[in-house]
Amino acid sequence: MVLSENVHKSFGHLEVLKGIDLKVDPGEVMCILGPSGSGKSTFLRCINHLEKINAGKLWVDGQLVGYQERGGKLHELSEKHIAAQRRDIGMVFQRFNLFPHKTVLDNVIEAPVQVKKERKADARDRARTLLDRVGLGAKVDNYPAQLSGGQQQRVAIARALAMRPKLMLFDEPTSALDPELVGEVLDVMRALAEDGMTMVVVTHEIGFAREVGDSLVFMDGGVVVESGPPREVINNPQHERTKSFLSKVL
Ligand code: ATP
Ligand code: MG
Repeated sequence: MVLSENVHKSFGHLEVLKGIDLKVDPGEVMCILGPSGSGKSTFLRCINHLEKINAGKLWVDGQLVGYQERGGKLHELSEKHIAAQRRDIGMVFQRFNLFPHKTVLDNVIEAPVQVKKERKADARDRARTLLDRVGLGAKVDNYPAQLSGGQQQRVAIARALAMRPKLMLFDEPTSALDPELVGEVLDVMRALAEDGMTMVVVTHEIGFAREVGDSLVFMDGGVVVESGPPREVINNPQHERTKSFLSKVL
């Protein structure tokens, strides 16, 4: 579902990704962890072409991200085609970014109605189903400010799912939450994974990575230091940098 081949990304002279090779099969959950500044968010942003890569190639669902190959050369896709690719990829950030002046239900139907031109009645039905699934069936008419952080994050997940994405990207979805609210968001993500969603999750929640992840990637300094089945990486890290990082977060 996601294939990253020798992906490089620089900001000016700062090389942030130094050749990332990763693969996520359909239905798999890949968790990424690593110290601050190691390039985790940048890599996620490259997957949906919010950042343009400088070298290498990225594919999502068999399609080259952001480019078309013609005559052996890469040509950047038009905005319209890039937007079409992004519609298939849901993204959930640390901050929930809900529309504050819209109700929970209206937040969830916004993109399906505006972008996908779904009929409002259909979008509402589906939004209610999704909100039920994330445990917020009773909050459809509330405004974001009336919800807890964990509830807002679950709305953000429902909102991403409303676009029927093929792939979900999570960038530290629980790190802005009070500790007692983390579990409810992780439970929703776990259910999503059990449902077969393909997910790339940047998180320091080691328990989640161990129980839900199919693979665990440790990044540092813009490279993949090591990766493998979560239990192996956690219980038997091969590199000093991984050991030292894990000893801080475990
Ligand atoms: P954190 O755990 O703190 O979220 P991260 O692993 O997600 O860290 P990134 O946000 O990917 O790290 O940043 C990697 C490096 O790239 C950092 O040094 C950061 O300052 C730099 N960087 C990220 N975005 C930009 C940008 N738009 N312009 C310049 N530098 C950037
Ligand atoms: Mg980050």
